[in-house]
Amino acid sequence: MKRVATILLVLFLATVLCGEHEKNRFHFQESQNTPEYKEKIAAQIKESKENKLKGINVSDDEKLKIHIVSHSHDDVGFKKTLDQYYSGSNEMVVRAGVQYILDEVIQHLDEDPTKRFVYAEMAFFTRWWDEQNEDMKNTVRRLVTNGQLEFINGGWSMNDEATTYYEDIITNMQKGHQFLLEEFGVTPNVGWHLDPFGHSNAQAALFSRMGFDAWYFCRIDYRDKEKRRDESNLEFLWTPFLEDRGDKDSIFTHITYDMYWGIPNFYFGDSRTEDPIVPGFTLDQRLDEFASWVYTFKDTFKTNNIFIPFGGDFNYQNAATIFINLDRLIKYANERFSDMDVFYSTPNTYIEEVMKTEGVEWSTNYDDFFPYADDKESYWTGFFTSRANQKGYIREASRQYMASNQFLAIEAVKKVIDSDKLAKQEVLEDALSIAQHHDAATGTSKQFVADDYIDYLYNGIKASEEAQTEIMTDLIDPSLDWTFCDVKNGTLDDCAIMKSLSEGKKVVVSIANPSTMRRTNEIVHFEIPNDVEIQVEDFYSPDVAVKGESYSIKNSDLDTDLRTYWTLLVDEVDSLATRSYVLSPTPKSPSSGVDNGLKTDSDVKFDFEITDDSIVSIHYTKCSQECQSLDFEFEYRYYTSYEGKGQKSGLYIFRDEGAGQTSQSYNTIVDFHIQKGDIASVMHLRGDKVDSRVVINNYADVPFATVTSDVHGIEGEHGVEVTVNFRTEKVTSDRFYTDSNGMIMEERIINQRKHYDLTDLQGFEVVSNFYPVNSAITLRDDTNQFTILNDRAQSGTSLRSGEIEILIHRRTTFDDDRGVEEPLDERNSDNSTISVQIQHQVIGATIESLHKENYNEVKRLQRAINEEPLQVFYSKVPESAPQERSSLKCPSLPNNIKLVLKVLDSQRVMARIYNMNEHFDNLTEPTSFDLSTLVNLVANLRQEGEGFSVTEWNLSLNKQVTSSSKINWSITDGKATFEGEKFETGVGNYFDLGSQEMRSFIFNFGETSPNQVVE
Ligand SMILES: [Zn+2]
Repeated sequence: MKRVATILLVLFLATVLCGEHEKNRFHFQESQNTPEYKEKIAAQIKESKENKLKGINVSDDEKLKIHIVSHSHDDVGFKKTLDQYYSGSNEMVVRAGVQYILDEVIQHLDEDPTKRFVYAEMAFFTRWWDEQNEDMKNTVRRLVTNGQLEFINGGWSMNDEATTYYEDIITNMQKGHQFLLEEFGVTPNVGWHLDPFGHSNAQAALFSRMGFDAWYFCRIDYRDKEKRRDESNLEFLWTPFLEDRGDKDSIFTHITYDMYWGIPNFYFGDSRTEDPIVPGFTLDQRLDEFASWVYTFKDTFKTNNIFIPFGGDFNYQNAATIFINLDRLIKYANERFSDMDVFYSTPNTYIEEVMKTEGVEWSTNYDDFFPYADDKESYWTGFFTSRANQKGYIREASRQYMASNQFLAIEAVKKVIDSDKLAKQEVLEDALSIAQHHDAATGTSKQFVADDYIDYLYNGIKASEEAQTEIMTDLIDPSLDWTFCDVKNGTLDDCAIMKSLSEGKKVVVSIANPSTMRRTNEIVHFEIPNDVEIQVEDFYSPDVAVKGESYSIKNSDLDTDLRTYWTLLVDEVDSLATRSYVLSPTPKSPSSGVDNGLKTDSDVKFDFEITDDSIVSIHYTKCSQECQSLDFEFEYRYYTSYEGKGQKSGLYIFRDEGAGQTSQSYNTIVDFHIQKGDIASVMHLRGDKVDSRVVINNYADVPFATVTSDVHGIEGEHGVEVTVNFRTEKVTSDRFYTDSNGMIMEERIINQRKHYDLTDLQGFEVVSNFYPVNSAITLRDDTNQFTILNDRAQSGTSLRSGEIEILIHRRTTFDDDRGVEEPLDERNSDNSTISVQIQHQVIGATIESLHKENYNEVKRLQRAINEEPLQVFYSKVPESAPQERSSLKCPSLPNNIKLVLKVLDSQRVMARIYNMNEHFDNLTEPTSFDLSTLVNLVANLRQEGEGFSVTEWNLSLNKQVTSSSKINWSITDGKATFEGEKFETGVGNYFDLGSQEMRSFIFNFGETSPNQVVE
């Protein structure tokens, strides 16, 4: 017994001595830290050794199968840029070169057929692959075919789950999966999200729809992990979107015992100093140490399979040091222990073995894993907001990508697919997919790496805008020279329309609708010269009345700082169509004042109050047939970042000063200006720290306010966490709802988690209640709903009834000790602190008025404003009168059905339909969809006699949907049972599209048979 005690001591020392960035790794759960437990493990080890000595064989079924899984976690940018990590440059920061990792690993796999390795990040792998000669490519193909090299996850990057939007997650995964299918004919079966900081229901659902049978991750709340270890519940069937999708999105889930580095003292990685496994006097001791971990795992998992990942960040650059030790570990452990079968394995092989185990019942999980805390002081709720400008830019890139995809697809269907435009679009697709990485979208990289992501996105956006402008030129009027206008925060500040107008020249402005929703009564703002008035008419039909109005504001007390804006009411744009207007500048007559809006038929009242120079209350009522009102107040507040002992507030972690602290008022309003126009009611507020603008479109069906906040750079010696707080008196509730990656709404209850007890909350009552918000946060009671839509990922909560609080900008003066080694202190080139401009939509109405026909007005706004905003182009006016071109005649689909188009290659276009309705809005009745709508659209655009085929595919377009190929898991609570999913064909082309259902079709133009729908 004495000897065993020594072994355990070594084990615990190793745990204590873990590196500083490996905080909180591998702690025994309480119940496993008892002398009784240690004795039990020691006895098991002893028995296993004695059986071996006595020649007693354990049957194969009873043996512990120890799956040694070799992997390298290669961040697509973190402490170095993606390109530096790939090439291995900038060694001063960190020694890591992915090209060498892949070179080394392939060589070792080639030399020894028993070795296996898994690889996840396609942004790296494709860079390496492009540089290999045909011999090497053949070697790799052989290793993939014989199962030695296995691709898992397979996204371009390993996306974050808290700060990403569902469309971008799909883009990232599809890009990697298409590469793997084309080069290797491979379709990954498991998701591998070892590092992302918390996990979402949408991710689980999307992975399931990509054909994954299982996924792996590590980071969940420390209390949850403790509980799951105790209850042998680290493996389960996750059934997301239950109320909408039943069990259709179920996916088996494995949460690692601790992190992804394997077990302490056995990392053998490049920079590690663990004792090697060598024959000699330490060998038996090392093997017993290994065995004690194996038995601990066995106590925690339900089958005889033990999953041990071996490999950390950028490991295997010196693959030999790891493989030599693993080879010996496998050899000698198999020799020493009678009941162990230790071997190189993969996540797929592990799942296959687990499935073979009979009689195991799995629990079911329905909830997401947010927020993540790795100890009682450390809530990872800051990164939901960190680097607010970068987060905004990622969403801007996403909108640009989606919009240009739509029009590129229309053009591709009409004539030939233009490879040059497709290449430009791919520059953005690459940048956008990289930006989904869990140190990119999150903002948790070093500053120079964050700048590199912005460069990638900038180049991508510019390339895509060029492609889109060429397409629009074709679609609108090829005789004109069109220019793309950036749409930022509802104004066109960057658009050069201003220059033409100030020179007295007329311009044609064309508004393109990238969605299949017919758009009505939306507004677009232009900045115009102060000294002109604008006359507007329809480009093609000058007789049609068009409405526009201007208003001026002062940005400071200086007379020279006047700016004038002009609002255009876009009364109607059809699905995937454009609408064009001519703007004519005329000198402003002296009589025209600021309030020159036309008087409206409806009775609009727009009042406000300002309390304590900081709280703005808005009272808006519009009566036409009936009256609708919008009443809310908003205020900017802040918390001081915690900078004391222990965990500090930083890039990842949000920590306020705690213990009874509330936030303080942040901004003093110094000036305001109000404009009650016909088209819009506008209020501008100038503050000492935040300028803001409230715009309410008087023509909107359900009134909503767009609040733009221009948060000045945060100054001072201490970290500051700025919030905007929206309040309503109409909703009383102790719970709130936040979206899951822009898809469904999740219920949140203050100071509660659904599947574990939230203990040790004292001092953390604020930060523990923040959740990721990617599209919406809502308060609701029986009759009223109050929703804030946002334009980028943010951290949000509702700490008091009737109040929504959103963290909008952060600056910290300390690093929070999770590896970046920098505070969150973003600076401009002149070293001033950065400002942030963000936008929220505020919708407060009765639930009844929000629910229209078969959709919810909030979801429609999410699409119209934050997913598929109108695109703006301009040109100079032609000499001769324009000829109206025949429009595309794309059908408008119901507002709850979203159509996403994407050109895949020279012969194929994807069309994905998504029913955005959801249980939260009580809209679960399926919508009948006629596939002929799509087929006829394509047929009409094609030349006469040109055939194509249509096939249905899974979400990442790497498996054709024919019948169920998913695994049937038996589960304990009976709430959901998995029956598989079948594609029904045959009866006409109608099918029901359930709430939250997506279906993806590929139109293939390379086939010669006439128009046909193929199963
Ligand atoms: Zn990582």
